[in-house]
Amino acid sequence: MAKKRFRQAARHERRFFPQSSANPILVRLIGAVGAMSLGAGAFGQFASDAPEPSKVTPWLLAGGAALFGFAIWWGTSGDPVLRVGAGGAGIDRGTIRRIPWHATSKVSWDGANKAVVVQGRDEADQELIIRARVASQPQAAAWIVKEARERVPHTVEVPEDADIPAAVDDPTDVLPMDPLQVVGRRCAESNKSIAYEPDARVCTRCERVYHKDFVPKTCECGAALGHLREKSA
Ligand SMILES: [Zn+2]
Repeated sequence: MAKKRFRQAARHERRFFPQSSANPILVRLIGAVGAMSLGAGAFGQFASDAPEPSKVTPWLLAGGAALFGFAIWWGTSGDPVLRVGAGGAGIDRGTIRRIPWHATSKVSWDGANKAVVVQGRDEADQELIIRARVASQPQAAAWIVKEARERVPHTVEVPEDADIPAAVDDPTDVLPMDPLQVVGRRCAESNKSIAYEPDARVCTRCERVYHKDFVPKTCECGAALGHLREKSA
């Protein structure tokens, strides 16, 4: 009789781009003035029919370029792209570092800076702190707290009245994730090394990995694991 192959749950996460906290109309206005000066300067310098370029045009060019550059710098906040989902909270600067839920030590609220702070260890077991400022990353902050309360509630130290918006379920934020790499990981219960992918059982809440023969009744995150335990033959 063919044995039903155990399948890992599909994984998803949300990706959030930072919002500028600067006034967007003002940024656009300064950018536009800068661009116009650049255009006028370029016209005067290179395209005008006047026998000699005006003495003003180099200044228009330089000033325009400076203003334009300032608008770009001011309009794009320095905050990184953040990711929240099955794999934990992540910071995306081209390469992605995530703090898996099971490696999250604390999710707290920085009231002075109005930011949600995630502390823990990343997938390479390095210490990592991820900050989601409500001003630039309101939905990342909201989703980190929402998911952490559902998945690893014992780590959450965010007051109920913290100034965080409600999490909005926008499907355009959602991205599929690769399956969790389980081969070579150690079972969280027995420390036994996982040599074959079918031997791994993954807690769908915190993504702790167990060997199929050592799945406890309850995960350390509090999730019931009965459905992952081998039926004794
Ligand atoms: Zn768990």
